[in-house]
Amino acid sequence: GYVKGGYHPVRIGEKFSDGRYVVVRKLGWGYFSTVWLAEEIKFVHSLPLDPLSYSHLVLIGWIRINRHVAIKIVKSSRKCTETALEEIKLLECTSSPSRSASRSSSSQLKSGEPSLIHPGRSHVISFLDHFEHSGPNGTHVCMVFEVLGENLLGLIRRCEDRGVPTRVCKQIAKQVLLGLDFLHNHCGIIHTDLKPENILVSIDDVEALIKSELRKSSQPTTRDSEHEPRRLKRGSKQTFGSNVTTIIRSEPLTSLSSFGLSSRSHRRKNHRKGQVERDEGDIVVAPGITVKIADLGNGGDYLFDPSYGPGYSKDEDHIAQVMELMGSFPKPVMFSGRYSRDFFNRKGELRRIQKFRFRSLNAILREHRRFSESESSLIASFLNPMLRLDPDQRVNAEEHLRHPWLDGITTQGDLDADLQRRTLELSHAFTNAAEILRGHVH
Ligand code: ADP
Repeated sequence: GYVKGGYHPVRIGEKFSDGRYVVVRKLGWGYFSTVWLAEEIKFVHSLPLDPLSYSHLVLIGWIRINRHVAIKIVKSSRKCTETALEEIKLLECTSSPSRSASRSSSSQLKSGEPSLIHPGRSHVISFLDHFEHSGPNGTHVCMVFEVLGENLLGLIRRCEDRGVPTRVCKQIAKQVLLGLDFLHNHCGIIHTDLKPENILVSIDDVEALIKSELRKSSQPTTRDSEHEPRRLKRGSKQTFGSNVTTIIRSEPLTSLSSFGLSSRSHRRKNHRKGQVERDEGDIVVAPGITVKIADLGNGGDYLFDPSYGPGYSKDEDHIAQVMELMGSFPKPVMFSGRYSRDFFNRKGELRRIQKFRFRSLNAILREHRRFSESESSLIASFLNPMLRLDPDQRVNAEEHLRHPWLDGITTQGDLDADLQRRTLELSHAFTNAAEILRGHVH
């Protein structure tokens, strides 16, 4: 790692970008980079309070603003640098308000409103800055992000015994769909690696939340009232939905390609929004395929939990389990993979697995007893369209946000967008009022 072309050896207290960032501690590391918590020190020019005072008293000062950020310091090798630069191009689209305004088609937006107001923006990691840093191992691309908390895997593990509460699952599902819709409709990006590790969850007080949800689950009458949006006090920090905030992020490839893990949707033929797509040559896997379904009975169960067995590999078992749930792969999908022929014979049968135990999602959900018949069919009707094996048949994020399983769920992004919309309206009103007044004065 810490060699020429590798990681940059960081010292605590080390300054980056001309002293703007000071390293506090390590947050983590990966194949591609090390990630550091840093304090950003920014000086903002304070303006004189009253513009008329300019001529008499020049009241100019600097205000120091401090905040914490995560700096990702990429290995200095050529490959890593190229990948990082590609990723920066994609990330910049997610943070610029104007770039793709014309592509906006979200049902949440009225035409003419800036693309800034999309409830999904709050659920995509904020990319704040980037710069280069030279050290003993070369020149490193550095990317600055907001600091995030634990990933979804951590939450699932924490809730192992009882499962993640249904309301939290709904919040997370809706926030992820909003994020995907924002990425797709506003930035032209398809997130191709959606998995629990890339879904960062912050919950103000996980333990309190779990306790309160447990209390509720023993009182069935609270079901409807719990979905009602809470009225917000003026000036209070706007949070809702057990204060769950989900952020999706992409992770650069560990098999390095010249593109980040996400790809621009316009470069792909036949894409559908918000779907997981793989490079040609890979088997196309529907999103959520290895996502643990939490909240099923005691603790979470994997929807697919493959293992190798006599005469077949783990991958073959995985494919067989997918077929047991979703039926056979459509031929074009089945034979689109680089390794298709290793798994399937000409007739489209798995070469080494003959026995199947077909089961429907609905039946699996009912077996877990926790759900009533109507609840299981609602959940199954939410999950099935995302799992369809034919990419053309798979539902996209924008459509799926309207699914009844998400009815009554208000996300932080909805509130943020609403606040921004109202602020915008207010500023228009002020501008109008000022113009009217000016008209009166003259
Ligand atoms: P790589 O691309 O090198 O694999 P990752 O993006 O996976 O690196 O980051 C490595 C680790 O750093 C993550 O597993 C996580 O623990 C931590 N990390 C990354 N980004 C952030 C962030 N924005 N806030 C907090 N921790 C982060």
